[in-house]
Amino acid sequence: MVLSMNRWEGKVAVVTGASSGIGAAVCRQLVEHGLKVVGLARRKDRIEELSEKLIGKKGKLHALKADVTNEQELIEAFRWITQNLGPIHILINNAGLTQPTNLTDGDAEMWKRIFDVNVIGLCVATREAVKDMRKNKVDGHIVHINSIAGHKVPDIPSFNVYPASKFAVTALAETLRLELNNIKSRIKITSVSPGATETEFVNNVNPSDDQIVKAFESILKAEDVADAIVYALSTPPHVQVQELTLKPINEPF
Ligand code: NDP
Repeated sequence: MVLSMNRWEGKVAVVTGASSGIGAAVCRQLVEHGLKVVGLARRKDRIEELSEKLIGKKGKLHALKADVTNEQELIEAFRWITQNLGPIHILINNAGLTQPTNLTDGDAEMWKRIFDVNVIGLCVATREAVKDMRKNKVDGHIVHINSIAGHKVPDIPSFNVYPASKFAVTALAETLRLELNNIKSRIKITSVSPGATETEFVNNVNPSDDQIVKAFESILKAEDVADAIVYALSTPPHVQVQELTLKPINEPF
């Protein structure tokens, strides 16, 4: 199998949650591969800072402010992208979070926030990207950033509804694959499932949870996950990486 990012050069990629961690690392790599990358997040200033640092690379990073829980904002962001930069070829559904609560006496607003970002936001962004790809007859690629918690519930009590939201992402990746098959589309869908990764994600976990502390002792770098995404994107058009799981060596789960 010949791996190459050449066919994406000059094309538009959208990365949600581009203001930190895995999203920022993916933006950097896609710009280095010559793509026109649009980073979406609420903290637009952070994406602008990254964009400045990437001046002189092959591609370019554009910063757009969008809250993925706001459907209208997302629709407008996608409209801006297609009108100003061209047809969308790649979507990296990366925006995601957990919240410091639990199930037994948890906060329903926090549960809802997790589902709104990790599940509904991902579905809306996917719908908008697929609509644009089909309209322009683009055999594009959608990547869902899932988690090892989307396949097996880790023994982290304060993870509350987070694993359930990522199990939903596993199902959504497969449901999308089947839906695309049914309409004879050649758009690819890949689920990338990292284990503990060194990002700001840990700011939203319960620091008194010993299991969390243990889980984050062996850790991946955001760049490792970005490398895995680029690998999936580099495969030839007939090869679909369906699921890619990465664990740091010695992960306790
Ligand atoms: P970070 O906290 O570093 O980044 C999360 C990103 O999501 C930020 O850019 C943030 O942007 C964005 N985001 C959160 N809420 C919203 C919102 N409402 N609208 C738009 N963007 C939003 O964490 P990671 O890089 O680790 O997380 C990226 C993905 O990786 C997530 O889906 C996470 O579940 C997954 N993951 C992380 C693991 C880890 O151990 N770190 C392990 C497995 C999976 P802003 O706040 O500016 O809007």
